[in-house]
Amino acid sequence: MPPCDQPFIPYGHQLVDGDDIEAVLSVLSSAHLTTGPHVARFESEIEQKTGAFHAVAVSSGTAALHIALLAADIGPGDEVIVPAITFAATASTVLMCGATPVVVDTEKDTGLIEPKRVADAITARTRAVVAVDYAGIPCDYDALAAVIGAEDIILIADGCHSLGATYRDRPVGKLAVMTALSFHPVKLITTGEGGMVLTDDSTLATRLRRLRNHGIDRDSHQRHSTHTFEYDIVELGYNYRLSDIHCALGASQLKKLDRFIERRAEIAGQYDRFFEKQQGIAPLVIPSGRTSARHLYVIRVDATQVAGGRDRLFAQCRELGIGTNVHYKPLPRLTALAHRVRIGPGGVDNAEMLYEQILSLPIYPAMTDADVERVLGAFRHFLS
Ligand SMILES: *Cc1c(COP(=O)(O)O)cnc(C)c1O
Repeated sequence: MPPCDQPFIPYGHQLVDGDDIEAVLSVLSSAHLTTGPHVARFESEIEQKTGAFHAVAVSSGTAALHIALLAADIGPGDEVIVPAITFAATASTVLMCGATPVVVDTEKDTGLIEPKRVADAITARTRAVVAVDYAGIPCDYDALAAVIGAEDIILIADGCHSLGATYRDRPVGKLAVMTALSFHPVKLITTGEGGMVLTDDSTLATRLRRLRNHGIDRDSHQRHSTHTFEYDIVELGYNYRLSDIHCALGASQLKKLDRFIERRAEIAGQYDRFFEKQQGIAPLVIPSGRTSARHLYVIRVDATQVAGGRDRLFAQCRELGIGTNVHYKPLPRLTALAHRVRIGPGGVDNAEMLYEQILSLPIYPAMTDADVERVLGAFRHFLS
């Protein structure tokens, strides 16, 4: 193939259109740039979309995970079970609470947390499980609920990949006690930076709203409407608020979520049809009864059947301007986490094996058929 003179195709990219730009511009000339009507509106639209009773908008997916753990009263001495294959924030937020992440293995074919390993890792100190809907596929929430059983352990979903996905006809947002979302530009919809916590529990929702706003017992609107300057800080909180500017963009993006996921599914279908016929390459499995939001399209490359394995394909893609990526390096391999996490019983062999094999291919709603054809053409060439 000739050297690459074509534009770089990233693995993920936002799709922001004229409506989104209008929505943001209109906020800039309105009365409230933050803590105004667009925040409540975006929250209520996410509630309608997911069926969650309460949505609390925050400044990032990381902030969402952090206050979800704090609202669950996670602190020093506690253990929180997390999967080995995830973005670092799933575990770093546990450390921010002073608790210990206990890293357990993932399933070979899905990359999702393995409920049996969760069961094996539960101790008297276990207070929460953070299940990650890796690549957009919901975890096996019924199995997780069964292994947690009647214990005093709270199930939190890291849904940063899975807004719009379903598990046994139940939408993400209704599958765990709390669900964290991210609106980073590569995620399903974007606010630039942003996140949200979803819950059906009104006590948790009140606590989450307080934690995102310095731990203040009443916000500026409540003070205004009750004619008082009086407020108290009743616990230590953060400034994790999301502005009206961000939320106006989010509400405009949310209208397109279904179309975005449809386009992602079309692209995934084209990849599926191609890789079906390739020896030594298999996409992640989507178990029956679940739909994926298709945040990532991950293939597993078997180096015993494909010469040079994943690393060769990654390097060759880069040469042709195709931005594949690896999601993710197992948590215990990250320098700042290695000595702070505990590895659960049985180790993380599947995650280690996946890490050698996985490659995320470009997938995003603005990706054209010509882009998809360029990726497939490249793989046809690499594998011939
Ligand atoms: C993106 C992501 C986060 C963090 O979200 P930010 O909005 O970037 O802070 C957490 N967990 C997972 C699995 C993610 O992909």
